[in-house]
Amino acid sequence: MTLAYSPTTPADLIALDERWSAHNYHPLPVVIAEAEGAWVTGVDGTRYLDLLSGYSALNFGHRHPALVAAATEQLGRVTLTSRAFHHDRFGLFCRELAELTGTEMVLPMNSGAEAVESAIKVARKWAYRVKGVPDGTGEIVVAASNFHGRTTTIVSFSTDETARADFGPFTPGFVVVPYGDAGALAAAITERTAAVLLEPVQGEAGVIVPPPGYLAEARRLCDEAGALLIADEIQSGLARTGAVLALDHEGVRADLYTLGKALGGGIVPVSAVVGRADVLGVLRPGEHGSTFGGNPLACAVGLAVVRLLRSGEYQERATTLGARLHARLATLVGHGVEEVRGRGLWVGVDLAPGGLGGREAAEALMTRGVLCKETHGRTLRIAPPLVIGEADLDHALDAIDEVVRRR
Ligand SMILES: *Cc1c(COP(=O)(O)O)cnc(C)c1O
Repeated sequence: MTLAYSPTTPADLIALDERWSAHNYHPLPVVIAEAEGAWVTGVDGTRYLDLLSGYSALNFGHRHPALVAAATEQLGRVTLTSRAFHHDRFGLFCRELAELTGTEMVLPMNSGAEAVESAIKVARKWAYRVKGVPDGTGEIVVAASNFHGRTTTIVSFSTDETARADFGPFTPGFVVVPYGDAGALAAAITERTAAVLLEPVQGEAGVIVPPPGYLAEARRLCDEAGALLIADEIQSGLARTGAVLALDHEGVRADLYTLGKALGGGIVPVSAVVGRADVLGVLRPGEHGSTFGGNPLACAVGLAVVRLLRSGEYQERATTLGARLHARLATLVGHGVEEVRGRGLWVGVDLAPGGLGGREAAEALMTRGVLCKETHGRTLRIAPPLVIGEADLDHALDAIDEVVRRR
């Protein structure tokens, strides 16, 4: 591939980024030019296995043929209409996404944060108009260590100081309780509670799986109080844990789910709120919207994603490859690894104190041809594309083994 601009060495390209872009990320020093499946190739021709999958936006790998075909076909038809008009992909995408997730209605958006914002607005309006909470007093109960996105309202209820500091004043109306503590949840829910908003598995926090029964208890408490349960499945959903929705493992249904990341197939940003028709139905024309939400290209790709998920093949891969991943990583506990957590093809690996830090481990893995990302200092988050082959996964695990045992 020839680049249309002059700098071509990784160092020159990194210098260009650093000079001209805001420094809101600290990327590993690799410059990707091409990718296919679970592999990416740097501008210098070095190949790497991608164990981050764009934070699970690439569940189906890079440039999945069915998704590229859907996008390419749609590029030749129509890409944007705005919601001022109907288009021929919209209803079909909504219908098939609702059917896949066992829900009744879909509100398409673009980014994950927008889906969460939309769910918050819908839950508040539902509380005032349906539940009868006095106007302006509705509360949403959230969990500590949550990650729901980066907007001003969403960081208002983050407990991560780095994500919040200097961005106030914040949006009121959120109550934070410890994650996984059903008693704390019960104590926080009142007649003013519009909704409880939870990640079924906390991804950004380090792939934290709550104690058994916690999510079912959250459901029960919401039913008792007449509050909505909103599951943020933007990272946990769409086959990553071995099911369409991570809540499916618990036999729990939410009233609203937020979806994003993999819904766009790693090609375009596509997000959605899906759930009960009587809840999403509170929105009337003009009350909420998005110029790009539900555009024809997004719907074409999203529809192709939904169809990939219908066979169950990717859920199955997440389950079997996930078992392989967990089994191998378990052998590292006590050998540079303190703890391994996760579900499906998704793990958080806490490195032992006194050994390599998360960033150092990610850099060492990079030099061995494996890309992943640390979270919260000592945790490596590993989420390979669900299309990764067994041999490639084993190869990546060998590299992890080598790096973490080295102290
Ligand atoms: C990534 C993520 C978001 C935010 O999605 P963006 O597309 O980055 O806005 C929200 N919730 C969860 C659980 C996420 O993992």
